[in-house]
Amino acid sequence: MSEEIFTGNFTQQEPIPDRAIERAVEVLRTGRLHRYNVLPGEKGDVALLEEEFAAFTGAKYCLAVASGGYALGCALRALGVGAGDKVLTNAFTLAPVPGAIAALGAEPVFVGVTEDLTIDLDDLSVKIAESGAKVLMLSHMRGHIVDMDALMYLCTGSGVEVIEDCAHTMGAAWGGVPSGRHGSIGCFSTQTYKHINSGEGGLLITDDEDVAARAVLLSGSYMLFDRHSAAPGPDVFEKVKYDTPNVSGRMDNLRAAILRVQLENLSTQVDKWNARYRVVEEGLAGTTGLTLTRRGNAETFVGSSIQFLLLDWPDAEIEGVVARCAKRGVELKWFGAPEPVAFTSRYDSWRYAKPQPLPDSDRVLRAIVDMRLPLTFSLEDCAKIARIIRDEVLRRTPQ
Ligand SMILES: *Cc1c(COP(=O)(O)O)cnc(C)c1O
Repeated sequence: MSEEIFTGNFTQQEPIPDRAIERAVEVLRTGRLHRYNVLPGEKGDVALLEEEFAAFTGAKYCLAVASGGYALGCALRALGVGAGDKVLTNAFTLAPVPGAIAALGAEPVFVGVTEDLTIDLDDLSVKIAESGAKVLMLSHMRGHIVDMDALMYLCTGSGVEVIEDCAHTMGAAWGGVPSGRHGSIGCFSTQTYKHINSGEGGLLITDDEDVAARAVLLSGSYMLFDRHSAAPGPDVFEKVKYDTPNVSGRMDNLRAAILRVQLENLSTQVDKWNARYRVVEEGLAGTTGLTLTRRGNAETFVGSSIQFLLLDWPDAEIEGVVARCAKRGVELKWFGAPEPVAFTSRYDSWRYAKPQPLPDSDRVLRAIVDMRLPLTFSLEDCAKIARIIRDEVLRRTPQ
């Protein structure tokens, strides 16, 4: 009997929309790719993208930058984080998050993860008290959003400022408030594997005028900050322009041009991701030995990837499922692998940070299996992928 095989490509995103390509060609024909290379009275595509993303999220200010990781580092600097400062962050996230903290000579303090793959608020409360850290870089890793009311209550009450890493939550919300709008600063990525694609790129939003002005100067505005239209007025820049270093990391008009078209279309894309997510989720529901993450009612998420847990399985058996699925064309990432692989690594692989044992999180991290859901997959593809995973998980479990 022949087994079902899936032949799709898990890293194949959709093509850039034709309208975005046309706009990119127009920008190329002008030769004015640098964001400050504009004609008198002209607003470049970067400035327009910033206005449009500010409007999309409801933020007062927006800055487009070179990458999501750059946005995170810029946010930390704009809040005044420097060498030796402690910064709280998730134990379950991707390497650019602790990397942005370490790049400043600051020290990441890891906070544990729950079985729902959100930050552990009890552990956060302990770590705030123990570390004395004044900033939390909160990663909405794989789009799982913690109870933001509870988190903000805890952080505000303890004088901890929150930077949100929204690399996986562009287009998502909690309690009707867009992701990135609960903390002081929200940071987004427009890298190819995220929700809008310019190869590389990042966006930073805030309502704080001082933070916004410092971020613009940090990003490399020279004294051309008046060409930013989603930024505070010149008086705010006057206060900070001599004290803020230029840590060059601008976005260019070519990337902004293709992002603007994709941003217009984002809510349709979000619906498509969620339809795919629901098909896989339904296909996996009730599989013995497999735990799906719960998502709160207040959470509006973007299902651009899906995770499940194989809790308390021996390593070799998880490796078996991953290997058998791979043979049948289904590419799963296991966060428990002893060695970091591809994009996947764990807090204990970031050895530039002090060792910080988190036994409860280790149990969860060891169990996490992760899969991308690119929009090039049809709903049929998703149903097939779920059947293959279910088959291979049940192959191990006694019925
Ligand atoms: C991709 C990613 C980033 C950084 O974005 P880049 O644009 O690749 O620098 C930050 N956090 C998470 C969770 C990510 O997945």
